[in-house]
This record gives sequence, structure tokens and C-alpha cells, in this order.
Amino acid sequence: MTNTALNEKNSKTSLNQGSVRRQPFLVMDNVYKSYPNGYKALENVNLNIAEGEFITIIGHSGCGKSTLLNMVSGFSQPSQGTVTINGQKITKPGPDRMVVFQGYALLPWRTVFENVYLAVNAVFPNKSKVEKNAIVKEHLAMVGLTEAAEKRPPQISGGMKQRVSIARALAIRPQVLILDEPFGALDAITKEELQEELLKIWNDHRCTVLMITHDIDEALFLADRLVMMTNGPSATVGEVLQIPFPRPRDRVQIMEDPEYYNLRNYALDFLFRRFAHDDDA
Ligand code: ADP
Ligand code: MG
Repeated sequence: MTNTALNEKNSKTSLNQGSVRRQPFLVMDNVYKSYPNGYKALENVNLNIAEGEFITIIGHSGCGKSTLLNMVSGFSQPSQGTVTINGQKITKPGPDRMVVFQGYALLPWRTVFENVYLAVNAVFPNKSKVEKNAIVKEHLAMVGLTEAAEKRPPQISGGMKQRVSIARALAIRPQVLILDEPFGALDAITKEELQEELLKIWNDHRCTVLMITHDIDEALFLADRLVMMTNGPSATVGEVLQIPFPRPRDRVQIMEDPEYYNLRNYALDFLFRRFAHDDDA
């Protein structure tokens, strides 16, 4: 099904159910992005994301996934078209949209606690120290890092660093959590643990999640919808897969579902046959 067809289907569903949750929340409308050197990264990207949705994005390296999410975070602007949140055009970064990077982006000379505290302090300058400390503690506990609060990034594992950056992002209570290949550098077990944690947190907070990944199993396990991008230059949304598995999701149960393999094969076919990349040959 094409993205347009899906969007139409979604808007019909929203009319039928009168559900607030299906109203468009984050909207990419006819988005083009060219870089100053003339490279046309994206063209005609259209995507309607509902509040509270969990979206995963896959596509070959260099197709423009980060370029797309940078326009949601507000670090860059479309060359044409608009990205809006609640009807407001996104023109700059803001605490309503937080990004978790693969490289963690922690301050190595600060403790785990301080790394989160600095962000909380920047966004909530009027809260008291006691309140800010409580927010930091709550979010470190949420990602299982209470014991590591006084350690510094060089003293902890990659998985723990990624937990710190997730805690830091969530402590600001963003409406949108943006994750750019957050678990790419982690071993399989740590990655699965963090996926489960992320789902639990998302379930409790109900923020909207946009996550880039190159792992199809991860994309299918986490998402409400999986966005598959074509190759650049002039990349766009190729197809959007609706992921039907009920929540809370159980990894073993999903892997036993024949539909899982249908979706997985469909995505693999998209990436490695229909939109195969030179690098994959
Ligand atoms: P992805 O995240 O999917 O790997 P990117 O969004 O980082 O891809 O990049 C998409 C394309 O745009 C790539 O070909 C990349 O080389 C190019 N690109 C990214 N940033 C710039 C820039 N600042 N100037 C010129 N080209 C860029
Ligand atoms: Mg990228």
C-alpha cells in the first residue's frame, strides 16, 4: 500500500472513530531538502504521524534518514514544504522534541547525574533544586541507573551511556522523542534489553517516537508503523508498513507469528531487491 493510501486510510479511521489519537500531530508536507552544495537529498516527503505513535524508519545508509529527522528536531529546515507539529511550523530546536544520538553526546567529565541535571536545569530554570534533583533521580531510576549516578561516562558501558542519554531526553518531558540509530553500536543482548525498556517507557509516557534503525527486527518489534525510504539522491518515503502485533509485545510470541515473516520478507525485499543499493551487491 502506498503512503498516500495509508494516510487516507488513517484519516478515514479517525473520522469513523472520532478518536483524538488519530488526528495528525506531526506532519511532513511535500518536504524537499537540498544541501548548499546542490545535493538533492529528499523530495516530496509526505508523512502524517499521530500523537503517541511509534514510528521506525529504515533505508540504506546515506538515503536521508538523518536529514529528515533533523528537520523534525529543528536543526535544519526544508528547502521546500513544511514540517509542522500541532499545526505549528518547526523552525528551530525546542524542548518539546528531544534527540538521542548513537554517539550518546554525553559530557565525559560530568557524572551521570550531572549530565541529566544540566539538561533539566536548562529547560526548567524556574524549578527548585529539590524538584530538579527529584526529576533526575526519577529518570535515572526509570532506566536502571540509580547505582551509577556518580560515575562518569568513561567508567560505564555503551549500553549504560545510551541509557543516560535516553534518561536525559525523557527528563525534559518531550512530546516527541527522536532516536537516530540509538542502539547501532550495542551488542545484541544489551540492544534487546534497551528495546524492551524503551517500549515500557513509551507505554508509560505516551510520547511520540521517531526512530531510525538499520535493524529490521528492531523496527518490526517496536513500531506501530515502519517507514521505508527509497535511495538518494531525491529519496522519499517508499512505503509504510502497518505493524499489527498487539501490545504489550512479547518478542517470542511475535517471532512465532507467520505475519512477522511476511512483514520481514516484505521489508527485506524492499531494501535488497526493489531498492537495492550498490553497497549491497
Ligand atoms: P542517512 O542518515 O540516511 O544515512 P543522511 O541524511 O545523513 O543519510 O544523508 C543523506 C545524504 O545527504 C547523503 O548522501 C549525505 O552525504 C548528504 N548530506 C548530508 N549532510 C550533508 C551536508 N551538510 N551537505 C551536503 N550533503 C549532505
Ligand atoms: Mg543517519
